[in-house]
Amino acid sequence: MSTPSLGLVVPCFNEQEILPKTINQLSTYLESLVQSKVINEKSFVLFIDDGSVDCTWQIISEEQKRNAYIEGLKLSKNFGHQNALLSGLLSCKNKVDCIISIDADLQQDKRAIKDFIAEYNSGFDIVCGVRNNRKTDSSLKRITAEFFYTLMKLMGVNLLRNHADYRLMSNKAICALSQYDEGNLFLRGIVPTIGFKQSTINFDVKEREAGESKYTPMKMLSFALSGITSFSIAPLRLVSALGLLFTLISLLMLLYVLIAKFFFNDVLSGWASIVIPIYLLGGIQLLGIGIIGEYVGRTYIESKGRPRFIIEENTLD
Ligand code: UDP
Ligand code: MG
Repeated sequence: MSTPSLGLVVPCFNEQEILPKTINQLSTYLESLVQSKVINEKSFVLFIDDGSVDCTWQIISEEQKRNAYIEGLKLSKNFGHQNALLSGLLSCKNKVDCIISIDADLQQDKRAIKDFIAEYNSGFDIVCGVRNNRKTDSSLKRITAEFFYTLMKLMGVNLLRNHADYRLMSNKAICALSQYDEGNLFLRGIVPTIGFKQSTINFDVKEREAGESKYTPMKMLSFALSGITSFSIAPLRLVSALGLLFTLISLLMLLYVLIAKFFFNDVLSGWASIVIPIYLLGGIQLLGIGIIGEYVGRTYIESKGRPRFIIEENTLD
């Protein structure tokens, strides 16, 4: 079997602190893999500048001129991690045999790359990296992640636990991915639905060596919402179920009031039983409208079919 060519895809948002180190480490590692004939010399690392406002693009474009293994893609503004990643994956379509996506902060162990390639060589089209533990995460991130996985499972979406976006995809899988049109992107949910032969490998995660996490709590929350709304309509069903439940409860209450009036003539008591349901039902109705609104809003955005990313410069072309 011939040695495959590899495209490493690295989305970067304001990563000037760590980028020189990342470029150096990844290109040196890629070169060593080429020399040991794990991958061939058509391989490259593609850095995507997701609308950074610091020197990220200057660093990428200067390195690209010096180093044959480095390529760069500049987006016209910040489109967010998932869209930046997608722009990189789609730009590699038909240019290499397989791609691996990895973060710019070197938190994911790069030595797992050869394990990914070994899986690819044994015939897998999609290989997902699963982190061995979450020791390097803050406790807030750990708890919210656990809560999110459990919630998704309850809603019928089976996500691979502790798999982020460190994964290999063959060119065949990338071609399949390019047929997905959705703008509400949650790649780790979409990839399993592509099919083909899929497997996993394990890797270690380190602390971020420089710069700060680009995933603010707000970005994390919006990412989780994307995951839920793009894969499950369970929350909408929950609204209907709650509606039904409270209709039944209010019918029972009506029965109770009628019995109290006709058999015991005891109607003045029960202020609470009138006032509390008003607040409760008001709250539940607002919540229900909110959940429906979330889906309607996303359908509206999706219906516009706006581009998911806009490329300003691409050294691969
Ligand atoms: N990132 C991006 N666009 C964004 C936010 C993040 O391209 O709007 C990139 C970022 O540069 C990094 C990767 O996505 O390469 C993961 O982000 P980060 O390491 O900050 O997230 P964390 O590991 O803290 O979850
Ligand atoms: Mg990180």
